[in-house]
Amino acid sequence: MPDQQQLLHTLKEYFGYDSFRPLQQEIIDSVFDKKDNLVIMPTGGGKSICYQLPALLLPGVTLVISPLIALMKDQVDGLMANGIQAAYINSSQTENEQQEIYQKLINKEIKLLYIAPESLSFLDTILSQITISLIAIDEAHCISAWGHDFRPAYTQLGYLKNRFPETPVIALTATADKATRQDICEQLNIKDATQHLASFDRKNLSLEVRPGNKRIEQIIDFLQNKPNDSGIIYCLSRKTTETLVEKLQNQGFNAEAYHAGIDHAKRSKVQEGFINDTVQIVCATIAFGMGIDKSNVRWVIHYNLPKNIEGYYQEIGRAGRDGIPSSTLLFHSYADVVQLQKFANMSGNQEVQLAKLDRMKQYADSLSCRRKILLSYFGELIEDNCGNCDVCKNPPTFINGTIIAQKVLSTVVRCKEQEPIGTIIDVLRGAQNAAVYDKEYQKIKTYGIGNDIAWRDWQQYIIQLINQGYLEIAFHQNNKLKLTSLSRKVLFEGEKVSLAHLKEFEKVKQVAIEQIDKGAAPNLFEKLRQLRLELAKEAGIPAYQIFSDASLKEMEKFRPVNDDEFMQISGVGRKKMQNYGYQFIKAIIDFSAEKTKKKRKTSTKKGNTYKETLALYKEGLSIEEITVKRKLAQSTIFSHIMKLYEDGEEIDLKQFVSKEDIKSVRQAKEELDNPDTLKSYFDHFEQAIDYNTIKLALTILEEKDT
Ligand code: ADP
Ligand code: ZN
Repeated sequence: MPDQQQLLHTLKEYFGYDSFRPLQQEIIDSVFDKKDNLVIMPTGGGKSICYQLPALLLPGVTLVISPLIALMKDQVDGLMANGIQAAYINSSQTENEQQEIYQKLINKEIKLLYIAPESLSFLDTILSQITISLIAIDEAHCISAWGHDFRPAYTQLGYLKNRFPETPVIALTATADKATRQDICEQLNIKDATQHLASFDRKNLSLEVRPGNKRIEQIIDFLQNKPNDSGIIYCLSRKTTETLVEKLQNQGFNAEAYHAGIDHAKRSKVQEGFINDTVQIVCATIAFGMGIDKSNVRWVIHYNLPKNIEGYYQEIGRAGRDGIPSSTLLFHSYADVVQLQKFANMSGNQEVQLAKLDRMKQYADSLSCRRKILLSYFGELIEDNCGNCDVCKNPPTFINGTIIAQKVLSTVVRCKEQEPIGTIIDVLRGAQNAAVYDKEYQKIKTYGIGNDIAWRDWQQYIIQLINQGYLEIAFHQNNKLKLTSLSRKVLFEGEKVSLAHLKEFEKVKQVAIEQIDKGAAPNLFEKLRQLRLELAKEAGIPAYQIFSDASLKEMEKFRPVNDDEFMQISGVGRKKMQNYGYQFIKAIIDFSAEKTKKKRKTSTKKGNTYKETLALYKEGLSIEEITVKRKLAQSTIFSHIMKLYEDGEEIDLKQFVSKEDIKSVRQAKEELDNPDTLKSYFDHFEQAIDYNTIKLALTILEEKDT
């Protein structure tokens, strides 16, 4: 069994992380103990490492059962980018492709094999020729009919334990409820599995609920200070996604719709664009997001109220998997509640659905810490208020709302409990419209007594009254407002009512505008993000698989300028250092140099790292010698030399590269027909010639041509 140091070393080398997240190490230890394990962690909690890291250190293959073919490729690409030998088998491959993988398996060239449960039978013949060290079952809740996305093929997985009784099984899911948990263990034949239940608290997600008025305006405001951030807007209907997209596009936003009515090809294109950072905003029905591993989703908006807290938490959970602060915003409207109630009434298990909807509504209406409510729903109690929800950030102050309540209640009485919220507000505000005139409400005593309060605020006050039990909505009677036993106390027995003071929407706007100005300054993060995007396009993988936003943020903060420093960045493992270190370090140095250049106008004293390198070069030192002398990485010195050369300094590049290498690069250039990326050369040479040398050779060749 590997010791802790060995585990940490592997974690850094392959995944670039310095420490384990909560529970990861104890789960990994338990895997090495050959125990069966059930891991319950929220989305973004870091489940994958729990089997990927053991897979690296175990002698044979780790079999990963995963339900989504679309996701497999992504996961395998991600692993390969970290220098881990992984492959997947599914029905989209040709027989030849599969044969190739089988051969690799037999040759022990694969550490992790991803497979959909439906495809397991393909493996039958070679299972006896390879050693399976660990079986990981991802999205394990799919096995349970109790869960929310049951998959019949999962139910066959129980046989794995019978066939490989000695091989530890690790089942992983983000679905917490007890019934499902038990069901998973029973069906997988791992009844003695150790259960690891992680906290569901995702502290980096801010929680906010706003009234659903002028939603488009509010969304546009919200987006103003997130110019490049990826996000998802969930809508209840297909139609809403489309109208919303149109409006956002008209405002210049890069948004696309995604729902089940759009044809498959177009849908894949949108999903692909989102993953690859070329589509910034996706307006989607709930069908979107399942199986998307994109770690840099920076915000999630719910245009409509979700039908239950499970769904809501899963959807907001798609934001900020990389642990960086991310925003979530939920619009709350009574029209949605009514709509959802109708759906619930039409469903098979009406009572459960209505009860779940009720919990959702309580969350949205809450005047106390929202995270407490969310977590208590999942059976987790936190003592302190979270400080990262709108209620914590802006705790309500209470006003004496007795007169407001009396005005509302007496209007309800005078309208004979026959009107919904909207008409009651119209009467209070003295509106001159058909709803009022048709029934001659302009004649009743309370008509117009509330025109000092805005329509939206009346709505909020009435919702508060409903939540406090002073009124109720008769959903089965066109949502008419009805009195309750408590309303009589207010009307006739002098009961005092306390209401939360409503906050000014304008203030929220102000803050947003200030933030835009701040965001406008060009920063290093943005440069690194651009570089990442270019490299991702070149390599044909999603940008977040090159480095996460979290890694870029660290680079921005610590500005590593040599290989050692670069390796210190969280998310930088050995392979990524080799593949991308040079470009990122160069970008950081260039950025600093640009800044220094600007500064130099006012102060000429400061030395320049390039000049120091130039001076040493002129003394006749080789790159290696300069590297030692300056205590910088060779790639850094190299980038200095290239920059000095580009700036017109007299430098003879030929001394840094052998004639053979120049020759090889020239040949490759012809064979590859002038490819425009260094990576094409790098791959062509099967990584035998490094990026620096290729770049040098190309520069020399170009010079010759001109
Ligand atoms: P899950 O499968 O639970 O949704 P992932 O395994 O995809 O979560 O991990 C979520 C994110 O957290 C990924 O970007 C992953 O690389 C990162 N991560 C996992 N473990 C660690 C760790 N120990 N330190 C830093 N980041 C980590
Ligand atoms: Zn809170």
